[in-house]
Amino acid sequence: MNLQRNSWEQREVQSFFHTFTDLPSLRAYGPTVVERGEGIYVFDVHGKRYIEGNSGLWNIVLGYDEPRLVEAATAQYKRFPAYHTFFGRNTMPTVELAERLLAIAPTPMSRVFFTNSGSEANDSVVKMLWLMHAGAGQPKRRKMISRKNAYHGTTVMTSSLTGKDYVQAFGLPLPDVLFADCPHYWRYAEPGESEAAFTSRLAQNLDKLIQKEGAETIAGFIAEPVMGAGGVVPPPAGYFPAIQTVLRKHEIPFVADEVICGFGRTGNLWGCQTYDIKPDIIVASKVLTAGYFPMGAVMLSSTIDRKLTAACERYEEFPHGFTTGGHPVGSAIALKSLEIITDGGVLENVRRVGPAFQAKLQSLADHPLVGEARGVGLMGALEIVADRKAKAAFAGDLQVGERIATAARERGLIIRPIGASVVMAPPFIITLPQIDEFFRILKETLDTVWEQVKSHAKH
Ligand SMILES: *Cc1c(COP(=O)(O)O)cnc(C)c1O
Repeated sequence: MNLQRNSWEQREVQSFFHTFTDLPSLRAYGPTVVERGEGIYVFDVHGKRYIEGNSGLWNIVLGYDEPRLVEAATAQYKRFPAYHTFFGRNTMPTVELAERLLAIAPTPMSRVFFTNSGSEANDSVVKMLWLMHAGAGQPKRRKMISRKNAYHGTTVMTSSLTGKDYVQAFGLPLPDVLFADCPHYWRYAEPGESEAAFTSRLAQNLDKLIQKEGAETIAGFIAEPVMGAGGVVPPPAGYFPAIQTVLRKHEIPFVADEVICGFGRTGNLWGCQTYDIKPDIIVASKVLTAGYFPMGAVMLSSTIDRKLTAACERYEEFPHGFTTGGHPVGSAIALKSLEIITDGGVLENVRRVGPAFQAKLQSLADHPLVGEARGVGLMGALEIVADRKAKAAFAGDLQVGERIATAARERGLIIRPIGASVVMAPPFIITLPQIDEFFRILKETLDTVWEQVKSHAKH
């Protein structure tokens, strides 16, 4: 595409090094430079309006013009704009936020550590586990178990925990990272295998993996309640209780990566509640500040807290932390955001409109492009197939996922292709009429792309 000279788009591609952006599509269609937002909508620099069907990156759940968040930030900037949490220093909003998170945790949690992002939070967890185990006389407990297709971030360690092929671009994963099965029933069940049988096979495989490696070498197990960037994959029935039974037997801590699910996405405040998970450590980030400030949090159970604190004694400190972790402005925004979600009717809205969102999603399951429609709460995905029976995707060079995202964008809907699926996660404030508008555009989009690619399909 020829971008107009000195346009925002041309200046963008000239100056900005792109993160997770499909370069052929960028060359073909150019970037979208956004200027402002209203509720669930964003407007590009030409004034074109889009439904932000992914809440930005799953996080901007209260919309783009929530005055109460701006006021909370402004008030804190005026009172005390910046400080840190090293050397025993702290600020009032950060103390209050830690208390608030402990009060709403899905299972009893003891203390909270703050970071600037989800990656930093997961990265910190691994260091905490290593230090804790070493302090407890088990220095060999170094290996982390993640799952194929998981997403846990982009630092060197959290890329390693991310079960996707693209991390090989960096020569990752690091050694000492193991991968359990991806819990996607539709994709990985054996022919005729029931959901319960699939769940118990995955639990048995995990047990075998642990026995093969030696439980005394495993530091922890990390999982998203619903895989997000893996393509919105809710677990099969009974999955987490079965997995946790295995982990408990081997005394392996369970880390719940609630970065996407935390604070309402699945229809409960926590994914742990939706899927009956009893975590030892919880990681939260994206929704924590509704996207208005970079922030992550690690919550520790009393057992982990006690063991980790004991392990720190030897060094007279926990030798880890981030300059701007636990920032007072971020904390003030997070407190307000949590209040709006829990007391301001937003979680109730997710519960009210979630079923309509899921019903509309399922109504697309029969579309000739769609192999599976799946989701929970206000997150969903359509798996795009060329051959429904064989569950086979279109050839990669057809770029069907990118075509769908682009055709939707032209019609005013931002959704995101991930592999052979298209994922959506609208803001928590979306209304029923807006859900209708969302799916009217999506249906038109699928019909259009089907016309383009149907000659390549096998049904
Ligand atoms: C986004 C994400 C992360 C990483 O968070 P960043 O803030 O991008 O570092 C970690 N885990 C999950 C489940 C995520 O979706």
